[in-house]
Amino acid sequence: MKKQVRAEVFLRDGFVCKKCGTAGSKRNPLTIHHIMPKSKYPKLVNDPDNCQVLCRECYDIEHGVSRGEARTKKRTRRRRYWEREMTG
Ligand SMILES: [Zn+2]
Repeated sequence: MKKQVRAEVFLRDGFVCKKCGTAGSKRNPLTIHHIMPKSKYPKLVNDPDNCQVLCRECYDIEHGVSRGEARTKKRTRRRRYWEREMTG
């Protein structure tokens, strides 16, 4: 996603996790979560309305619970997915 959009979402959400309110840490950094999954809605990747700030813990919960396919396919790919997410 675009750096500009990422910055906009962080600013809008006040640099805290929308779920638990943490400001993040080295172990649990903040990231951008896409409400509508990128895989299904690639056009919404750079739409700030489809993004929210989550900490890594909430992000993992969100992705593990709401995405059925994440459990099987993404278990091994999660780390790579995460790194891509962080570097944008
Ligand atoms: Zn959180």
